[in-house]
Amino acid sequence: MPISQPLAPSNARLRDRARAFAIEAGDRILSEPPLDPSRGLNGFAGFALLFAALAEVTGADRFTAAMHAKLRDAALMEDRPSIGLFGGISGLRAVAALAIRSEARYSKLVAQCDAYVDRQLTEQPRKAESFDRYDLISGWSGALLARGIDAPVEPGRLAELIVWVLEDPDRWRCPHPLRPDDPPVNDLGLAHGVSGMLAALTLTLNRLEGEPARAAAQTLRELCEWRIDRGNRVVWPPVISTHLEQSYRSAWCYGAAGVLAVIHNAAVALHDGETAAFAADAMQALAAQTPDSWELEGEAICHGLIGNALCFASIASATGSAALWSAAFRVAERVMDRVSLKHYDAVGLLDGISGIALALLTLTGHTGAAWMRLFGLRPIS
Ligand SMILES: [Zn+2]
Repeated sequence: MPISQPLAPSNARLRDRARAFAIEAGDRILSEPPLDPSRGLNGFAGFALLFAALAEVTGADRFTAAMHAKLRDAALMEDRPSIGLFGGISGLRAVAALAIRSEARYSKLVAQCDAYVDRQLTEQPRKAESFDRYDLISGWSGALLARGIDAPVEPGRLAELIVWVLEDPDRWRCPHPLRPDDPPVNDLGLAHGVSGMLAALTLTLNRLEGEPARAAAQTLRELCEWRIDRGNRVVWPPVISTHLEQSYRSAWCYGAAGVLAVIHNAAVALHDGETAAFAADAMQALAAQTPDSWELEGEAICHGLIGNALCFASIASATGSAALWSAAFRVAERVMDRVSLKHYDAVGLLDGISGIALALLTLTGHTGAAWMRLFGLRPIS
């Protein structure tokens, strides 16, 4: 269902441009199928999600057929799947759940995915050796976000495991895979860190009370305390560390854009108006700065420009902030100015043109925003 939002008549050009851009991106992925994609959201399942949106926008049979083909490719891969959202079964689960609206038969696939994930969750939890265990990209947080893609869920085993991890910082302290010889760290980002766990609890559960509410409230307080004031804006380091030299990128995956979007949604869910107001003000201050000051790389959702546009729009939609809406549209325009679809190497939802295209269609009201939950963001409405 297309969403309505305050896209001013002067932005009709942006809307048309986003549509044309997304169709070109879809056709490029159709004509040059990526080699060896994973089954998850950064692979087949993500392409299926983009094709579903393009089918809705254009009514074109080629996109409808491609959506079904990519879901089939994801379901029939002969590997031993991980539970991960971006590389494994949970990505397939989420997109199949959205596809039930047009094809009831996908409910069987969703049930099979849920049963598979449930079978991987029976062991007693133990301290994580890697953030893959609990994070949004590959772990329990992403799996829980996939379960809550279309409707709030009962607190179950996934929420229980995330609460267990959050109870003791030692349980989510682990070496960064790129720096295995460094001392273990507590990761603060949305993609791999504590912000992703907080997003999963506060975006999916039908009742935020008891242990999950206590864990979320404690995490929210701590996440706010780890901020660093930089005069005209606040930033978050990627990890808690006294010995590492850190960057202060403000992106979706690491830093202020993603963290503030999570803080805002968590504060609203926990009825903490003061913290919600802090997050909305801080996001406005961030959005008012020049994009160069955000220290991003590229235009994709992960650490790129369009990821920030989604973060701005998520709070804009919740608060009605005209400044954040126009920042989101300004960034969307900048993305289309910079991206040459013929020459963009990455095609995934997380790191490439399918994510850029889907975000543009969503920001300009062409398609529904439920998928934003998979990125730990409250969908725009
Ligand atoms: Zn990133």
